[in-house]
Order: sequence, then structure tokens, then C-alpha cells
Amino acid sequence: MNRTLSLAGYTVRAISVAGFETCIELPGLKVSFDIGRGPRSAVRNPFVLFTHAHIDHMGGIAHHVATRSMLKMTPPTYVMPKPVVPAVENLLDAFRRLDGSELPANLVGLGLGESISVGKRRIARPMKAFHPVHCQGYVILEKRKKLRTELAEGGKAAIAAARDRGEEISTTWEHPLVAFSGDTRIDFLEHNEHARTADLLIMEVTFVDDRVSVESARANGHIHIDEVVERADLFENKAILFTHLSARYRQNEAKALIKKKLPPHLMERVTLLPRPDWCP
Ligand SMILES: [Zn+2]
Ligand SMILES: [Zn+2]
Repeated sequence: MNRTLSLAGYTVRAISVAGFETCIELPGLKVSFDIGRGPRSAVRNPFVLFTHAHIDHMGGIAHHVATRSMLKMTPPTYVMPKPVVPAVENLLDAFRRLDGSELPANLVGLGLGESISVGKRRIARPMKAFHPVHCQGYVILEKRKKLRTELAEGGKAAIAAARDRGEEISTTWEHPLVAFSGDTRIDFLEHNEHARTADLLIMEVTFVDDRVSVESARANGHIHIDEVVERADLFENKAILFTHLSARYRQNEAKALIKKKLPPHLMERVTLLPRPDWCP
């Protein structure tokens, strides 16, 4: 079963075990990241941002589209790295032939520097990830507006004068709400400012002791907790959710290791995603 958490004001429903299954739902923002197997609740959400095509992150795609189609829901939109789109289209075509059904879905290849609207004032933008296959994280940004500082200080008269001069009276910016790493080396953190500044960072941390070395984690495109410790001062996030823990660790054991290694100023913002019932 996937777990529901409330972090930095966002509801997160998530399941994530390295190599088995990852699916992160943000019901309040109406988006999901990845569908490894396809939890029932994920069917409700038509908008999925796929980080990469490893089976534990995309294996549930056919199930998702088929269930939505059976329940007469609107066709889903699947965002993914551009290079994987043709193969995913082939995969769905194969299921269409095998299943004898239409399986309507909208596949969108989204490259770095591009964005897609995911709500009235919100966009999703890919972030470069470092993994052996094409992989990208995502940040959800909200367009915000506020009165220019000098006008706020100048009061009504200053605002009216600025309007008369035909000036824009407010400034706009994009606030990073939630960032998700997908599978990646720690380089993701240094490379993407929004990973460090989003209110909530959802980040893979696959290995938490020396049963797997930092070198081996890096070679496979994953994060080791020792690399997080070295970068503890980079995190400006209000909350950080660790996901994608290897099944070789028990939950309590991993929790204790993380607590021992991370400095308190980071640890107080970190949550380790609880395991599903089948994984101790
Ligand atoms: Zn994975
Ligand atoms: Zn992967």
C-alpha cells in the first residue's frame, strides 16, 4: 500500500522501493511522478510525469491507461524524456493490438528548458538527472505576482501614477513548489537550483551504509547517504522526502543510519518514506 504524508503543506501519496516500484502522487497539485506498478489511487490522476523508462518507474503505464479507459475517464497525459517517446508509443501500440482496445493516451516528450502547464498558474519543468538511461527530474513551479516594492511603499498615489504611465505595477516570479529527482547520481543536486530551493524536495537515496559503496552507487546512477552528508548545507528546502531505498535495508535500520549520519539541521527536515507492507 502507498503511504500518505503531509510535508511542507503538500499531501504526498507515495510508494517507492528501488528496483520494485516507484509512484509519487501529489493529489493537491493534480500530478503524479512515475507509475512502477500502478496503485489504484493513481488511476484518478490523468497527469503523470515520467522520469525514465526503467520498469520500476514505468511498468504500470499500460495498466493506468487501460483502467482509465475502462472507467470512461479522460485520456491521460504522459510526460517523459523526448528520446523515450517512440518506444513507449510502440509499447502502447503492442498492448492496443493485444488487448483489442484503443487505450487513448497523450504522450508528450519534454526536453530540458521546456515546460508544460499543469494547472492554472503552475508549470512543470524537467531537470537534468544522471542515470544510465535517459532520465529527468521535474520541478513544479507556481507563477506568483506581487506589487513592486517601491509602489507598495509609495501607497495608492504611487500606484495610480505608475498605472497612468502605463507601467506594469507588479513583479512576477516562478516559485518552486515541489521537485522530484527520479533516479540519479547526487550531481542532480548541484546541477539544479530548484532541487535545492523547492519547498519540498523528493529525492532518491538508495543506499545508506557501506554494504554498497559510494563508488558503486555512482556507477549505477544512484545516491548514497554519505554523498548527502557531504552536501548537507546545500539544502534550502522546507522538507525533504527520501525515496527509492534499497530493499536490502530494513526500515528501522535505515532510519537509524540516516539519523546517525545527517547533521541535525538537515535531519529535522528529512522524512524517510515508510515501506509498503510487503517490504520490512
Ligand atoms: Zn528506480
Ligand atoms: Zn532507474
